[in-house]
Amino acid sequence: MLAQQEPDASSFPSGGIRNTFEARGYTAWDPSSPAFVVGNTLCVPTIFVSYTGEALDYKAPLLRALNELDKAAVEVCQYFDKNVTKVISTLGWEQEYFLVDTALFQARPDLSLTNRTLMGHTSAKDQQLDDHYFGSIKERVAAFMKDLEIEAHKLGIPLKTRHNEVAPNQFECAPIFEETNLAVDHNQLLMDLIKKIAKRHYFTALLHEKPFAGINGSGKHNNWSMATDTGVNLLAPGKNPKGNLQFLTFLINTIKAVYDHSDALRASIMSAGNQHRLGANEAPPSIISVFIGKKLTEMLDDLEKSVPKGKMTPDEKTELKLNIGKIPEILLDNTDRNRTSPFAFTGNRFEFRAVGSDENCASPMIVLNTAMANQLKEFKKEVDELIENKGLKKDEAIFQVLREYIKYSKKVRFEGNGYSKEWEKEAEKRGLTNIKSAIEAYKAYISDKTIQLFEENEVLSKRELEARFEVRIENYTKKIQIESRVLGDLAINHIIPTAIKYQTSLIENVKGLKDLFGEQEFNHVAGERLEIIKQISKHITSIKQKVNEMIEARKVANKVDDMVEKGKLYEENVKPYLDDVRYCIDKLELIIDDEMWPLPKYRELLFN
Ligand code: ADP
Ligand code: MG
Repeated sequence: MLAQQEPDASSFPSGGIRNTFEARGYTAWDPSSPAFVVGNTLCVPTIFVSYTGEALDYKAPLLRALNELDKAAVEVCQYFDKNVTKVISTLGWEQEYFLVDTALFQARPDLSLTNRTLMGHTSAKDQQLDDHYFGSIKERVAAFMKDLEIEAHKLGIPLKTRHNEVAPNQFECAPIFEETNLAVDHNQLLMDLIKKIAKRHYFTALLHEKPFAGINGSGKHNNWSMATDTGVNLLAPGKNPKGNLQFLTFLINTIKAVYDHSDALRASIMSAGNQHRLGANEAPPSIISVFIGKKLTEMLDDLEKSVPKGKMTPDEKTELKLNIGKIPEILLDNTDRNRTSPFAFTGNRFEFRAVGSDENCASPMIVLNTAMANQLKEFKKEVDELIENKGLKKDEAIFQVLREYIKYSKKVRFEGNGYSKEWEKEAEKRGLTNIKSAIEAYKAYISDKTIQLFEENEVLSKRELEARFEVRIENYTKKIQIESRVLGDLAINHIIPTAIKYQTSLIENVKGLKDLFGEQEFNHVAGERLEIIKQISKHITSIKQKVNEMIEARKVANKVDDMVEKGKLYEENVKPYLDDVRYCIDKLELIIDDEMWPLPKYRELLFN
């Protein structure tokens, strides 16, 4: 029974794979991730499939992707070392989060229901001074972190680092990297644990990508590499030319895999929450590019120029070997950090920086590892063909194929500022996609290219991809719908009544002034107050009108059956009202008596 179970899966999102009347789903033990005990409950990591055999979860396709990567990478490693029989994918995530005092959190219905503030004027002081990042960790937070680390270690999660992040009340933790499937499970566990342990300290942890407007949001960097059973990190430079050729092989194949499947990668990390970060000048843009640093850029440029076509003379060979021998063994300190790149090489791994803090790491890891597996198979095929048909030596063939890949995927490499307007223009010229719309981004799940990638590598079938596409769109749509409803309620039931109350007190005051002063003096004394009374009226009217329009937009969208159309209507016609209504509310917050304002303000939520 532990090995296989048949839970009711009727309310589990399946993207149309199951009908409610045939709700059966099956779990099967994943022995590659250790079982663990929480309290007195034995927890068994499982995959979850439908009655008809389709994957409903992230784990099943992840395991398939990792298995494909293993097979493909071992074959390529065999060019360099016959002793390699297994390659694992490694993942070290960095988890960002906010902590908010639970009492204040509970006084914010928007935070409790949507995990983000739908309103709130920026605090006069927030992150301008960078004093949080480099400041010491407050005692109450440090006590929470210590508790979290102890509980994490009990579950086998190797948490290692802790620090303050850029925004006030924002923090980060990161473990020692692990095999990807295990690292994914550990991140899922940790996200749960953060929330539980925070409660003990009367904090509420926010994993939302953008809980507060105007200050940094939260990401989850996915540091990724591959390692052999002989103990070699395939994205770390080698000790000699041969080791470096292996390193360059995996590096260049990664760049090509990312270039070819950048749209699928973006789709895997897009969400209602992460949409606030992508392309919003604080997190990597929605253009997927790769940063490799100056040294490696020079190396690739050089290889592109110096690798001769066809057979090489002994001199040419020596030259090339000498050249790649120049890669310093330790690149870690030689790669400048580019914090604006979504996919950056950081010395011995790539860091996928665009992942959202609330995302399941498996989502991008499925795409990345499948794309890499596919790429390595293609590479092997091309190299073998050159060896067999063109009579090239192994090294010559590898150099040839790598040179073509360097040329082909050059467009995806970008070393400059990813947040700049110039990059958007430049990327457009290069033909790179810059998709900010969530619904448009999700379409990559069902593009011919993605379907072919996943079907050929037997990671996901077309039907499973369509289901995932639907589930993500539905999730997106529902989140916008909930946000829109919550904001409407708050605007009408909290904000407008408060505004009216304050306005009434001003009116009383003005009336009193009129009794006291003659007309000329009255105008002088009350003039400004009359102006405020008018301003309040203006904002109240605007809010009412905008909320009504937003409700109408929802009604129109709700009538549409087609999931994609409906999602688009929510994204294009409902979502903009969230900002419009908020704008007026935030203006009122600046005018209205602080004692009357019904919700904790940013300065209170962020500084405690
Ligand atoms: P930075 O601040 O430079 O991003 P951190 O120390 O915050 O660095 O995070 C680095 C992350 O990279 C850690 O989770 C670490 O375990 C992970 N990491 C290091 N080496 C590898 C590797 N070979 N494969 C995967 N992850 C790795
Ligand atoms: Mg980091």
